[in-house]
Amino acid sequence: MQHVTLNNGLRMPQLGFGVWQVADDQAHASVAAALEAGYRSIDTARAYDNERGTGRAIAESGLAREDVFLTTKLWNDAHGYDEALRAFDESLERLGTDYVDLYLIHWPVPEQDKYVDSWRALERIYADGRAKAIGVSNFTQQNLDKLLQEAGVVPVLNQIELHPRFNQAAMRKVNADHRLLTEAWSPLGQGKGLLEDQTLRGLGDKHGKTPAQVVLRWHLQVGNVAIPKSVTPSRIKENFDVFDFELDAEDVERINAMDNGGRIGPDPAEMN
Ligand code: NAD
Repeated sequence: MQHVTLNNGLRMPQLGFGVWQVADDQAHASVAAALEAGYRSIDTARAYDNERGTGRAIAESGLAREDVFLTTKLWNDAHGYDEALRAFDESLERLGTDYVDLYLIHWPVPEQDKYVDSWRALERIYADGRAKAIGVSNFTQQNLDKLLQEAGVVPVLNQIELHPRFNQAAMRKVNADHRLLTEAWSPLGQGKGLLEDQTLRGLGDKHGKTPAQVVLRWHLQVGNVAIPKSVTPSRIKENFDVFDFELDAEDVERINAMDNGGRIGPDPAEMN
């Protein structure tokens, strides 16, 4: 397992496991399978309605709590200082733990214009040691600039939609310039079309790997943290089996060239 070091010194596995659109009981089974396969970082959120199943799988795994890097997120209906503190308490209660490794603002929701207030709550939670790190998700350059003008603590990362067809070169640079790592959500482009791409298939054949493994390897080599999701045990294992090969510079360039601005999810400026 490769790790990255966050700007506050905390180490985080570079490859993790996401559980969006996974019902609570299924999340329990999937997270158990992921931990069994070797993943040590799990990405959930209040909005996924599976914090209980996720927390239970970690508790029952036999692993020490400190051996699992756990992320959850503040949902859009709980922006504001007091609201965010309360939402965090509720997330911890559902997760059945007394701290998370990373707490993120899920979306900036510029229409509400409360993310700076929410951030102050995250800073408080961080100061209290109840989150080992705090960060943001779906923040644009404008959102980050505004936050950083007010913030006492720089977010450790920005979790954004990122896959070969939407590789976010500009936003990755903005993040890096501010000392934030970039974490890729929908790192596989949600499967389907992307994984049938001929370039990825060709690179898979070249390395004896699947298109999904090629894409995940690309994320690791360009410096992204990635959190692929699957509920299928064989794919959960497949997506973790990416540490025994390396793309060469030309392979990486070919994947970089696949960008076509193909955003799948909502535009952060419009999400409320
Ligand atoms: P993903 O890119 O990880 O794709 C997952 C889908 O790809 C699976 O449902 C399956 O259909 C397919 N797949 C997975 N492994 C495969 C394999 N080996 N071979 C073939 N097909 C395969 O998409 P995602 O779930 O949208 O994103 C991953 C995680 O990112 C989420 O679970 C969540 O934790 C996080 N996320 C965060 C946000 C945010 O706003 N912060 C938004 C979306 C997702």
